[in-house]
Amino acid sequence: MHYDLHSHSLASDGTLSPDELVQAAATAGVDVLALTDHDTVDGIAEAQASAALAGMRLVPGVEISVSWQSQTLHVLGLGIDPANALLGRGLGQLSAFRDWRAEEIGRRLARAGIPGAWDGACRLARGRIVSRTHFARFLVEQGHAGSMREVFRRYLVNNRPGYVSGDWAALDEVLAWIRAAGGMAVLAHPARYRMSASKLRRCTGEFRECGGAGMEVVSGSHTPDQVRSMATLCCNEGLLASCGSDYHGPENPWIRLGELPPLPAGCTPVWESEHWPMH
Ligand code: AMP
Ligand code: MN
Ligand code: MN
Ligand code: MN
Repeated sequence: MHYDLHSHSLASDGTLSPDELVQAAATAGVDVLALTDHDTVDGIAEAQASAALAGMRLVPGVEISVSWQSQTLHVLGLGIDPANALLGRGLGQLSAFRDWRAEEIGRRLARAGIPGAWDGACRLARGRIVSRTHFARFLVEQGHAGSMREVFRRYLVNNRPGYVSGDWAALDEVLAWIRAAGGMAVLAHPARYRMSASKLRRCTGEFRECGGAGMEVVSGSHTPDQVRSMATLCCNEGLLASCGSDYHGPENPWIRLGELPPLPAGCTPVWESEHWPMH
């Protein structure tokens, strides 16, 4: 079975509709796909309907933004009930923060001499959640940088003119929402957080104590070296291992749906756990 347990659609900052995403995954030979949009479950119903037609399994998921020790973490909820009220209220708070943050990013960019960014990002987000990715696309469109990578580095990260620090949800709260919605919590792309090894161990330890079950060992954003070190951390922490491309659409050709190396031997995959919500 071919698993890809991390992907985005137009409901957040991906560029394919949920239907197009599911079709692309089926074409790429994915048997089990998780749709994990940032802080929203709005794409899931459409993805489930397309998956049923395509004969593919769709894991209803979400990638939730967390503030932990003055940095942002991403926690996946896999196999969640998208209609759960506690989860819905929590995601509502996060999307309210996103709306405020988007306006604030727009004000800061305007002060730095770039007018119209809030309007531009909202236009690209088409009424769905507004992410820094939408600002980045607008800035590239307006010629302020040559690539997404460059635009983030110059405008949208800490100490840059368009950066607003995250005020997301607390780790224990988010794990409670995921639990209430019947899902399994997985720490997304842990090697991406630029933490020291000891801080990352504290992070995974606290994550497990709060009820977190797994971590991404294989991720589209992990190098082969990082896959090996994350596999070791995963085993040492007694966490389950997950794998996901973090696909956002065909515009990022270096990340392909379902094209992932296997989980290293010794890791227990999330789907082999008795707690896997999709059994
Ligand atoms: P947000 O949740 O609104 O702060 O936006 C975070 C999203 O921005 C991530 O999920 C990525 O899709 C994207 N992102 C972050 N850093 C970069 C980068 N350096 N290059 C391209 N995309 C990035
Ligand atoms: Mn994203
Ligand atoms: Mn992420
Ligand atoms: Mn993601």
